[in-house]
Amino acid sequence: MHRKYIMQITFPDGSKKEFEAKSKGIDVAMSISEGLARNALAVSLDGKLTDLATPIEKDVSIKIITLKDKEGLEIYRHSSAHIMALAVKRLYPNALLGFGPAIEDGFYYDFDNIELKNQDIEKIEVEMKKIISEKLPFVRKEISQKEARNIFKNDPYKREQIEKLGEKETLSCYQLGDLIDLCRGPHLPHSGFVKACKIIRLAGAYWLGDAKNKMLTRIYATSFPSKAELDAYLEMRRQAEERDHNKLGRELDLFITDKTIGQGLPLLTPKGTMIKMILERFIEDEEIRRGYVYTMTPLMAKSDLYKISGHWDHYRESMFILTGDGPDDLYALRPMTCPFQYSIYNRTKHSYRDLPVRYAETSTLFRNESSGEMHGLIRIRQFTLADGHIICRPDQLEDEFLGALDLISYVTKTLGLTGLTYRFSKWDPNNKAKYIDNTHAWESSQKILKAILDRTGLPYYEADGEAAFYGPKLDIQFKNVWGKEDTIITVQIDFSAAERFGMKYTDNDGSEKVPMIIHRSSIGCYERTIATLIEQYAGKFPFWLSPEQVRLLTINEEIGAFAETVATKIRDAGIRVKVDKRGETLGKKVLDAQQEYIPAIVTIGNKEKENGTVSVRTLDGKVMQGMALEEFISKCQDLNGTRNLVTSF
Ligand SMILES: [Zn+2]
Ligand SMILES: [Zn+2]
Repeated sequence: MHRKYIMQITFPDGSKKEFEAKSKGIDVAMSISEGLARNALAVSLDGKLTDLATPIEKDVSIKIITLKDKEGLEIYRHSSAHIMALAVKRLYPNALLGFGPAIEDGFYYDFDNIELKNQDIEKIEVEMKKIISEKLPFVRKEISQKEARNIFKNDPYKREQIEKLGEKETLSCYQLGDLIDLCRGPHLPHSGFVKACKIIRLAGAYWLGDAKNKMLTRIYATSFPSKAELDAYLEMRRQAEERDHNKLGRELDLFITDKTIGQGLPLLTPKGTMIKMILERFIEDEEIRRGYVYTMTPLMAKSDLYKISGHWDHYRESMFILTGDGPDDLYALRPMTCPFQYSIYNRTKHSYRDLPVRYAETSTLFRNESSGEMHGLIRIRQFTLADGHIICRPDQLEDEFLGALDLISYVTKTLGLTGLTYRFSKWDPNNKAKYIDNTHAWESSQKILKAILDRTGLPYYEADGEAAFYGPKLDIQFKNVWGKEDTIITVQIDFSAAERFGMKYTDNDGSEKVPMIIHRSSIGCYERTIATLIEQYAGKFPFWLSPEQVRLLTINEEIGAFAETVATKIRDAGIRVKVDKRGETLGKKVLDAQQEYIPAIVTIGNKEKENGTVSVRTLDGKVMQGMALEEFISKCQDLNGTRNLVTSF
């Protein structure tokens, strides 16, 4: 007589329980409670995610996965991707399938042999809903490579995967309705588990992310455990879209791009350029006040320079290389300002008393970003950085670093930037090829930087493998409206450049020493900072940052000449003003000015002319009648002078 084999299952709290052999995850969940069985999506067996319906073969530790777990939502969304694939196959039987993974806030699936337009989206969504209502089970099958080749003989992308997985692997596939898909799993028990899904957008994507491969049609979509959560997510997206600098910046006529000029090469319009100039004047004046001296150096240099700096070895793919007199005379557009300012330093001898030297430059730089990475004003191929290098004695390093941080905190506060985080970026000792190879210098400079950061009390976090190739840094990070994080400002310690470039100073004992270098920015690169400001303020800039601060609206044609004299007075006071003399109604002129987010909208009529007053309307809808012109001008000057973030009169 056979005795039934009994397995021992261990739960996350350490408790154990016995089950009959080949019990399933769902049986285990049911043994705990019916509610858990209802909410269970999959199980983790000794850390491996598995379907609820898969028989358990041996003693294991188990975790029941529900939507409360990160993996739960991933399984939910990945299963939704299969539902979408089945919907597409039902509607377009010739479609070929690529990959369909879950991603951060949803999932996608790639298709070939299909042409989709936006109006097709709804049709696919309707079919997905139908599949959900059919409650089709996800059925797992384990197959040999030979069987897999046969099942997917007409599916070139799946075939490629099968060949890649190799002979020995047992492959798994899943059947949902009529669709068999090659997949590791696990999946939801059946399609009815999905409660709310929505297709977000269509896009193109190269097979395996490689630009040499064919472009496939990618459908981005998402699913949520409830309609309310989906609606909240869609509302969040709508708001993000409204703030997205890449959309809003164009709508507000701050920048454009031009295909014939090239990707990643935005053009700032007069309005966008005005914002850049406001920021630039602010920074240049502030830096000069803080003891910086300005330089202006070439935008390109011979390869010799980059060989000394290390960029030729460590950064070459990211540079634009140019040819001078023949193939051996190579130049590169500069990706950084550092060595140019080192040359300025080296033009003369320095005593210990001359240090620190603080060089700044409004510096245009070039980086060959890959086409998939480029985005609006945030990731581009040419940009202008408020760059600078502090050359100091070792005993001055800490104070100079703190000084650079103080400037940054002043700048970010003045701009009203919020939601910034601080990243202490260290090297990766397991990937030495990426960095200058000097373990001792890395460890000691990271120790110094950590001590400085601890003194500031900044809430920083550490990140391995994010350092510059020449030293550790503090990165000030900003998340764009889509949640993507980028560095906007950085301060770095450099332990190797001074030596490489033969930089010296004479110490008080007469000996020659090598100085320390701090690379730093104050406001970051202007384009990226403008993008950040657009998103932060949703285009409604504070008064001092507005490219057009005041718009004068004439209420009839006769008042036009008088309005021009008022505009001249305002302009003479250093305020940016424009007159709207169009023959439109006042209502239309107000509406246009509001849509362009002009902070002070001023109407001029006969009454105002007689009394020497203005009527002011702010963006938040406040109206002030009969304000004396002189008073209005002085209030504007106040807002400019204090760089006030709130426009109030
Ligand atoms: Zn799958
Ligand atoms: Zn630098």
